[in-house]
Amino acid sequence: MQVNVISLFPDMFSALTTMGVTGRAHEQGKWSLSAWNPRNYTHDVHKTVDDRPYGGGPGMLMLAQPLVDSINDIKQHGGTGPVILLSPAGKPFTQVKAQELSQLPRVTFVCGRYEGIDQRFIDHYVDEEVSLGDFVLSGGEVAALAVLDATIRLLPGVLNDQQSALQDSFHGELSGLLDCEHYTRPEVFEGESVPPVLLSGHHANIAQWRRERSLALTAARRPDLIQQAKDNGLLSKKDLLFLERLSSTSIAN
Ligand code: SAM
Repeated sequence: MQVNVISLFPDMFSALTTMGVTGRAHEQGKWSLSAWNPRNYTHDVHKTVDDRPYGGGPGMLMLAQPLVDSINDIKQHGGTGPVILLSPAGKPFTQVKAQELSQLPRVTFVCGRYEGIDQRFIDHYVDEEVSLGDFVLSGGEVAALAVLDATIRLLPGVLNDQQSALQDSFHGELSGLLDCEHYTRPEVFEGESVPPVLLSGHHANIAQWRRERSLALTAARRPDLIQQAKDNGLLSKKDLLFLERLSSTSIAN
C-alpha cells in the first residue's frame, strides 16, 4: 500500500514508519509513505502557507494553492488514490472504514492546521472527510496517524498472528462487539485470581465465556453496538438468550 500524506509537519509520521507493528511492516515493504509538505510548493520568500479568513474572525486558514500543487505533484509520482481530509466535520472513523482503506493500493491524506483549509480546495480536490471523533485537534496529523495505524495493522502479513486482528474489538468473530477482558501470568496477582474457566483448557467453555463477557461488556458500555449487531443479524440465538437473561437479572438486582 502506498500512502501519501500532505502535511506541514511530516516528521510526525516517523512514529509510524519507525516504531512497533507499523514500523516493522514499513521496513518489510508492506506499505510505504511519501510525505508532501505544502511549504515546498509556495512561491514567496516567506514560504507562506496560510492567510486570514475573508469575513474576519480569529485564526488563519491554509491556502488552497500549495495544497493543489502538492496534489498535482503526487499525481505525477504514481497518483493519489482517494484523497481523504482529516476533519472534525468528517464521517466518524470506524473499524469498517479501516478495513475498507486496507484494501486500497494507494491513498492520500490531507492534514489541516490552523483554523482549517480554504473550502475551494476541499470542494474540488477532496474525495471524503474523516473525523477521529467529536473533539478538536490542533492538526490533522494525529488523526491521520490513528487512521493509518488502524489500517496498516490489517494489511496481509502485518500482524504476527492474523487471528489477533479477528479477535479485536469490532472485528470479525466479535461481530461489532467490544473485546472481552484478557489475563496473563501470574495466575494470582495482588490476591486476585484469573477466572478459573481460562485455566480449564476446555476450548468450548473458554470460547463461550469470552463471547458472554463481550456481550455483557458491550451491553453495559455500548448498548448502541448491541443494537447495531442485532439489526445486522450478527447475534446468534444463544447470544440473544444470554442478553435476555442478562437484562432480566440486572432488572431483578
Ligand atoms: N476550525 C475547525 C473546526 O472547528 O472544525 C478546527 C480546525 S483544527 C484546529 C485544525 C485541523 O485539525 C483540521 O483542519 C483537521 O485537519 C484537524 N482536526 C481537528 N480535529 C479533528 C478531528 N476530530 N478529526 C480529524 N481531524 C481533526
